Amino acid sequence: MTLSARLETLRLPLRDPFVIARASHGEGRRVTTVIAELRDEADGPDGPTGLGEGYPDSYYGETPATMAAVLPLLLEALAPVEDALRGPLPTARAALDATGGLMAAAIAHHGAAKCAIDIALHDLVGRRLGLPVRELVGVPGEIPPTDFTLGIDAPAVVAERARRAAGFPALKIKLGGPADVETLEAVRAVFAGPIRVDANTGWTPDGALAMLPDLQRLGVELIEQPFPARRLDQLRELQRHSRLPLVADESAVTIDDLDALVGVVAGVNVKLAKCGGIGPARRMLERARALGFRTFLGCMEETSIGIAASAVVAPLADWVDLDGCLLLAEDPVDGLELDPDKRWRLSGAPGLGLSRRVRPAR
Ligand SMILES: [Mg+2]
Repeated sequence: MTLSARLETLRLPLRDPFVIARASHGEGRRVTTVIAELRDEADGPDGPTGLGEGYPDSYYGETPATMAAVLPLLLEALAPVEDALRGPLPTARAALDATGGLMAAAIAHHGAAKCAIDIALHDLVGRRLGLPVRELVGVPGEIPPTDFTLGIDAPAVVAERARRAAGFPALKIKLGGPADVETLEAVRAVFAGPIRVDANTGWTPDGALAMLPDLQRLGVELIEQPFPARRLDQLRELQRHSRLPLVADESAVTIDDLDALVGVVAGVNVKLAKCGGIGPARRMLERARALGFRTFLGCMEETSIGIAASAVVAPLADWVDLDGCLLLAEDPVDGLELDPDKRWRLSGAPGLGLSRRVRPAR
């Protein structure tokens, strides 16, 4: 095995407190994400380093420690394609496509650990071939603009944050708190665009049904994960009564979850950190579309490594929610730009074209 990776855990302060119905990440004030630096010793001492990222969410069973624990196993699983990854474009592309299956066969779950390696591999191969990851992966089409997400807080506080975010074409509002309708009323008073709501499993069937008329009146565009992940019966029943599309997030972790959601919800939220990176996300988005779902591309509170990698597959999404690095007080990575119309513009440099920001010595 010639691949090796170094993981670094970053604890990053958030711009605004970020609370959701089922958890407040670090009391909502800071988040923990893991950066991977991947090298192939066959490239020699001056060979490129691939940058990756995986966001460990304890809800999905991951922490920085579990990511470190499975790392050797995942790298070992890639041994059969190490040579092919160093090959010319068609060979390297086929090898990249095989890595998701190899890692899945080595161990189930651990999406964030797989994601960190998958992104770093794409970056490494792109740098070797002198090719941007977007061209390496070859997803055609335009990257839709991203929405901007606001956590649970007092309605007036959420409204003030909505006013500041009014330049975004849509807002995603976290609900499942004590004042959901009041929050939406307050946001609607300052923001004219579509509002997406996400209850993060925090609603009851009766409460959600009672809220439907208000959600429609207030211009809500979609309802994300109102009920617990396994309660597909509750999701199906609400979707039956709702003109608004329901989008499964916690119920839709990997491509294997899609079949059971057919006829249950209208849409699925795909995230690289859940399903295992660029390759698995592309396949999950394509499969979701083939099954008739509307597709939502989400993220965790990642740096722009995770967001840039997500943007590579964003043309496959109907709704884009790639704002993780915008929620951070400071993004420790350079190279990804947000256009004035809120579309991510990927660097044209090889790989993801990103670099760790060097902090001035204090
Ligand atoms: Mg969600």
